[in-house]
Parts: sequence; C-alpha cells; structure tokens
Amino acid sequence: MIETLLHNPDFAMACRQFDEVADLIQIPESTRERTKWPKRMITVSVPVHMDDGRTEIFWGYRVQHHLSSGPTKGGLRFHPEVELGEVAALAMWMSWKCSLAGLPYGGGKGGVTCDPTKLSLREKEAITRRYTQEMLPFISPETDVMAPDMGTDEQTMAWMMDTYSMNTGHSVPGIVTGKPVRIGGSLGRRESTGRGVAWLTLRAMEELNIAASGATAIVQGYGNVGSFAALGLAEQGVRIIGISDANGALFNGKGIDVLKLFQYATIHKTIVGYPEADPFDPKLLLEQPCDVLIPAAVSRVIDQDNAARLRCRILAEGANGPTTPNADTILNERGDIYIIPDILCNSGGVIVSYFEWVQGLQRFFWKEAEVFEKLYGMLGNAHRQIRKKAKELNVSNRQAALAIGISNVVEAKKLRGLFP
Ligand code: NAD
Repeated sequence: MIETLLHNPDFAMACRQFDEVADLIQIPESTRERTKWPKRMITVSVPVHMDDGRTEIFWGYRVQHHLSSGPTKGGLRFHPEVELGEVAALAMWMSWKCSLAGLPYGGGKGGVTCDPTKLSLREKEAITRRYTQEMLPFISPETDVMAPDMGTDEQTMAWMMDTYSMNTGHSVPGIVTGKPVRIGGSLGRRESTGRGVAWLTLRAMEELNIAASGATAIVQGYGNVGSFAALGLAEQGVRIIGISDANGALFNGKGIDVLKLFQYATIHKTIVGYPEADPFDPKLLLEQPCDVLIPAAVSRVIDQDNAARLRCRILAEGANGPTTPNADTILNERGDIYIIPDILCNSGGVIVSYFEWVQGLQRFFWKEAEVFEKLYGMLGNAHRQIRKKAKELNVSNRQAALAIGISNVVEAKKLRGLFP
C-alpha cells in the first residue's frame, strides 16, 4: 500500500540508498523500518481563483519524515512534476542532511504541482496562501518549518509567514525561513546554499591540489543555488565555462561573466540569448571537460547513460538527488571523480535556515560575517567527518555521509525509545 502511494523514481532512489547504508552500518531490523518510512504525509487540494475567472484545483503535499530530533525542516517546491513520492524522497534526504550537520531537526518537504513560470504573481500568492491555510493544523515553529526550494522564493515565504501570523494574531517569524531580511530573515540565507556549494568545492580542490585560478566549472541550473555557486567560484578565479537553465545552455571556453549573466537573466527570466556565450546542447553540457561540474537544478540528471562520459574531476551536487544509484556505481568504479554528495554539498541552505530560526526565536539578529563564519565552520566539520568515515569504512563520500546522517537518527530513536 505505502509503496503504491509513494511510487516515484526519486523515492525508489532514496529507499535504495537507505537500504544499502542500513546494511553497511547494520541497523537492527526493529529500528530499520521506522527510521525509513515517513511519519506524516499530508495531501491537500488547493482551490484558487485564476486570473481568467476559472477556479483551478492544485494539489499540495507536505511530508514530515521524522519527529525524533525536533521540528521537521525543509523546502516548499512549486514545479509541474511535484508528486507525493518525490516530496517524500526529498523529506527523507532532508532528515539525513539535518542530522549530518548536527541540526535539531527531522526532515520535511512540501510541494504544489504547478508551473510557476505560467502563473501571475497574484495566482502564485493565492496558491501559497491557500496551501498555508490548508497546512495550518500540521505546522508551527515547533513542529514543521518551511523554506524556499525550486520555484519558490523569499516572497513566497513572506506570504506564508503573513498567512500563518494572521491566523495566530501576532507575527510568527519562526514559521518559515528564507524570508526577506526586513521581516526577520537572516543575512546570508539567500546566498547560503550556493555559497556553501562553492566553499566545499574549493576545499575539495585544495585536497586534490587543483588551483582555483585557471580551473574551470560547468553549472546546470541558474536559479538560487546555481547562480551563487557560480559566483562564489568565479570570485576565487574559477572560469565558469558552461551554464544551463530549463530553457537552454550556454558555453564559452574563455569564461562567462556570471554577474553580467545574472543581470541578463533577471531581465529576461532566462539565460538563453545572452550574447557573450554560444548556445549549447544542455544534455551534452554535462559531459564537457571541466574541473568542477555542479548540477544545481533537478534530480536524476546523472544516470547510467551519461555517468561514464562525465569529464569532471569534482562533482559538487548542488541539487537534491542529481545522481542515480546506478550512476553512482559507475562513478565509484571509475574512482576518478571526487563527489561532494548532495546531503553535504547543498546543506548550507538548511544550516543558515537553522540560524534564521534561532535568530527569529530569540529576536536577536547576527551580522552577515558571523553567519558565514558559523556556516563554514559547520560545513567544514561535516566534511571532515565524512572524509574520516569514508576512509574508516572504505566507502564513497556519499555512503559515508549517509552513514553518519542515518546513524545519528537511529541513535536518537533508540535513546527516546518507542512510545508507548
Ligand atoms: P530555483 O527555482 O531558484 O532554480 C532552478 C534552476 O534550475 C532554474 O534556473 C531553472 O531554469 C533550472 N532548471 C530547471 N529544470 C532544469 C533542467 N532540466 N535543466 C537545466 N536547468 C533546469 O531553484 P533552487 O532553489 O536553485 O534549487 C535548485 C536545486 O537545489 C533543487 O534540486 C533544490 O531542491 C536544491 N536545493 C535548493 C536549496 C535552496 O536553498 N534554494 C537548498 C538545498 C537544495
């Protein structure tokens, strides 16, 4: 029954990763199942008055994966392919990500099946507010805290906070993170995921003795994560030779000026047509020679078809679940690509979300330098733990990261015991 409900390739992938690591670290059967399956899965219909006078029903989801360590935490996604199984997979990955970073959260994820590129601002606001309203019985700063993900942004979080606060009767900044600084957001949150990706990539480059100046990178996805990851690397002298978004790809062997491209994309809502780079085949972009490849868009883009053809030295997973388990096997057999696995690589976002939540609860805000100092400290700590574990168990960085994340959740469940 549950497998049918959650039937989805991302969920199958998350389960396979979990099962392999559960064998590796020998999780007892009694704890295995209850660590794996989500605690709560909420599905709501979201009726909205559209601009053309129709009433359209959208489907909204929220999965709260486990509640053993504190509130659940995770993004809200607006995308045409959102379905319950995908959201459940993302919630499961959030659990291991939070636990790996040492945050007092379980994993959560939400989504609404819609195409934000085809919605007016008013329609987006209506979907966001009604979705929040439908979720009211299940969320609070102490039970489940949302954040932006694909297709949602600071404005979405501001509408969510307002809707929740209007129901409560006072401002509740801790209900979401990734909101605008003016209403209680944290300095650095907007850039945190991409900047974290860049920071970890530079650490991997140091480990591999690759000098930043003269190195090259290709980035798939030029949204929040991809743009700030590209900027963070470019600032250190890395040449960004290829970039793509949902509409197309660009290539320029001499390097793309990411700030100029950012301005272009802000005006044109796409990178396509940017004059200072050549149009390129988005699929082939991933296979071009480069030092660093950053998938920062959708899941399963590195699969058994293209894994053998990748020509990067570092794969920095900005997106969630960009590499399928079959591709992972191929990459591990190849052994020539240093992988920074997603649950570490893009964890900068949830770490600064945690800082935002803490600042909101205390009504005491930090300087940007303090945010980044703490962020890099935590990323560095998780990175070192993973490298140590990978050597200890003779496994890949991904398996080491998952082993740490999953075993921390298992331990929390064991310590709390099974109620009643
Ligand atoms: P976003 O909506 O800001 O940007 C997504 C980008 O990907 C856009 O440029 C879009 O055009 C592009 N894109 C979509 N489909 C594509 C495709 N098939 N090929 C190439 N490009 C494509 O989203 P985001 O917040 O940057 O999230 C990107 C990824 O990072 C997602 O997997 C998300 O789950 C993950 N992530 C985001 C955060 C965060 O803080 N925003 C944190 C952790 C992980």
